[in-house]
Amino acid sequence: MSHELRTPLTVICSVAENMIDGLVDSKQQLARYGSVIGNQGRQLTALVDQVLLFTSTQEGRSCYQIASVDVAEIVKRVLENVSALGERNGVTIESDLPDDLPKVMADATALSHCLQNLIVNAVKYSGEHRWVRIWARVGDIGRQPEVQISVQDHGIGISGADLPHIFEPFYRSPEVQAAQIHGAGLGLTLARRIAEAMAGALHVSSIRGVGSVFTLHLLATGQAVSHDEEIVNSETE
Ligand code: ADP
Repeated sequence: MSHELRTPLTVICSVAENMIDGLVDSKQQLARYGSVIGNQGRQLTALVDQVLLFTSTQEGRSCYQIASVDVAEIVKRVLENVSALGERNGVTIESDLPDDLPKVMADATALSHCLQNLIVNAVKYSGEHRWVRIWARVGDIGRQPEVQISVQDHGIGISGADLPHIFEPFYRSPEVQAAQIHGAGLGLTLARRIAEAMAGALHVSSIRGVGSVFTLHLLATGQAVSHDEEIVNSETE
């Protein structure tokens, strides 16, 4: 964690010093320095957001507004948010969302956050197979129908020794630490806490060197998404 915080700060400070010392003498160089500062700043912001969210869930301060929400719409919005990340990393992000998914009980913002964490991880750990797929389906947990959203990659996968620990706060596999892939080890802790706060669950199945599938289970409300509602929403936007 301290490494994750210090590295971007060190980079930003040394770029600033170079600029003060007059080492930037072309527009091109200025743009390169600007982009380094921007990237490191974004990385720090994401980390600070994650730590703040973690602290609020840890102290039970998180306040979820759970309601019946259109899960397909939320997944589509998250896909829009991560499309630039996929492009930047040369990762193809595919999706398969049936038209007739029922609504689910969820806090829309927290659900987006949870899905975004899973997709960012799938991209980050996609290894040489730069491919990620998100799909949704209706399942049944016996008591009540549920919607399952899966995020799959064909990346580095997770070893049997690491699997029991990946949802623990700050846990990172030795492999990803050795490869110096950025992260604080909080994304999955938060994703699972969010899933459980919505009376859902988050499960994983993974094989090292083959890839991973993370599946989020959410309670369906039994209410189908009304197409009239969709039209009204798009007209009012
Ligand atoms: P971070 O990605 O910041 O390290 P997470 O809590 O999101 O933290 O993940 C914890 C650990 O689980 C990661 O460090 C990595 O070892 C493993 N992991 C998570 N998602 C994947 C994935 N899709 N493929 C392989 N390993 C993963």
